[in-house]
Amino acid sequence: MAEPSTRRTPLPRVRTSGPERPWSRAADRGVQAFYGPAAFYGPARNPDVRSGVLPVSGARASDGPYVCEWGHDMAHILVIGGGIAGTAAALALHRAGSDVTVHEAHPESAGDIGAFLTLASNGMRALAQLDASAAVTAVGFPLRSMRVLDGSGAEVARVPLGEAADPLLRYRCLPRGDLAAALQAEAARRGIGIRHGARLASVRDTPDGVTVHFTDGSTATGDLLVGADGLNSVVRRGTAPGVEPRYAGQRVFYGFTDAPVPAGTDAGDSECITMVRGSAAAFGYAVSPDGGTYWFARVAGEPLTADEIGHGTPAHWRGLLLPLLRADTTPAADIVTATTDRVMVTNATEVPTGTPWRSGRTLTIGDAAHAASPATGQGASMALEDAVVLAKALRDAPGTDSALSLYESLRRPRVEENVTVSGGISRGTHRPPSPPARGSAAPAARLGDGELVRHLEWHADLWAEFGAPGPGDRRTR
Ligand SMILES: Cc1cc2nc3c(=O)[nH]c(=O)nc-3n(C[C@H](O)[C@H](O)[C@H](O)COP(=O)(O)OP(=O)(O)OC[C@H]3O[C@@H](n4cnc5c(N)ncnc54)[C@H](O)[C@@H]3O)c2cc1C
Repeated sequence: MAEPSTRRTPLPRVRTSGPERPWSRAADRGVQAFYGPAAFYGPARNPDVRSGVLPVSGARASDGPYVCEWGHDMAHILVIGGGIAGTAAALALHRAGSDVTVHEAHPESAGDIGAFLTLASNGMRALAQLDASAAVTAVGFPLRSMRVLDGSGAEVARVPLGEAADPLLRYRCLPRGDLAAALQAEAARRGIGIRHGARLASVRDTPDGVTVHFTDGSTATGDLLVGADGLNSVVRRGTAPGVEPRYAGQRVFYGFTDAPVPAGTDAGDSECITMVRGSAAAFGYAVSPDGGTYWFARVAGEPLTADEIGHGTPAHWRGLLLPLLRADTTPAADIVTATTDRVMVTNATEVPTGTPWRSGRTLTIGDAAHAASPATGQGASMALEDAVVLAKALRDAPGTDSALSLYESLRRPRVEENVTVSGGISRGTHRPPSPPARGSAAPAARLGDGELVRHLEWHADLWAEFGAPGPGDRRTR
């Protein structure tokens, strides 16, 4: 079915007090409805509507369509990209009462299914605010501690990881594609529309609305466009013309083997990730409860060409990596040797800090706005944080402009610090703090600090606490 026209009569500017916006009869509000019974929109995007039930408890069909009172005239939100940022944003915006549709290029789930990643406690905290923890803890496995080995294989540190004591906030290790798929399944379960095989070609952003054109010739129109289409974002061409991602100084190899863990590899306890400070490569690995080993290696050097990445075989990548790992006496070389087929490589790439995120009715989030080199392992967690803060800002601020300004003022310092630190680690210009002494607590404060918790806390009013006319003029009450 074609997208319904989204240029409807805007809602009057009504501020409501609680985080959950009340619904009211469109007839009582004197406005054209945004939501209605199934017949109104056909296969609609709101679960209550889709099932043919009016979205208000106690409502009767004879009441006619209902509207959700936003603080401003936000109606339909288009999200481009059904990866981590886009799907989480859809979950958050839907939870905040918005009408949202996700358009994902990949025909089935999401692109780039290769790498594994670690979700840190801050990312898990964001997920919890979306009531999506269970969907994600059903895949992957938890990590409670990290140990650090030097080039001789000696353990120089072992620390608890993040907020290890809380099962909902514990670090998690999982394939990147599994995370996106779990979020998409949760979105579908909540009745959020995700259109697969929809590859964005171009954007037409006007004062009246934003229209996206897909490569299959279809279009969609909304009031706000959220570009969550990753590192090579098409949406970013409009918000930041001429800005290109840049190489951050390292090649990143990653792999998986289900071969039995080579001798000497075992961390001695489960749920531990091992980081190896090798002489020529930074290496890390984690062994899943069923014995599979996920690993990565970061190696300084010239960027690989697209042709080399496209044609490289696992044997080729092993051949590049093993001489560097064999210079040390750590488990790294044995793990890579045991990895026969699932070896991949990419260039560490970042979006330059200062890249504009907004233009007209369009905003970029996640990697599209602030991709960082993977050295800090924070990209996915930052994307999840973006989703929560964006939905809260739109929910709580009195208008779209003020909401997006608030969002940017809260997010830009934090995500750009990550881009800078991660890029510095990859380029060898950032000096990480010395490893903590054996047995001491991991420095989790930066990831779970009080201000971040207040940004993410779903029921806290973001505008009441941090609202300001624009970036740089933030006030805290
Ligand atoms: C090797 C490597 C290791 C990493 N390790 C970690 C880690 O340990 N921890 C961590 O937190 N982060 C890690 N990251 C970063 C993390 O993967 C990203 O930050 C995260 O995936 C960003 O999510 P996103 O949704 O913004 O982008 P993506 O995950 O890239 O999703 C973008 C989505 O948009 C879709 N799309 C693209 N173009 C279009 C289009 N034109 N139209 C429609 N849809 C489109 C894609 O198919 C995709 O589904 C790692 C990254 C790499 C490369």
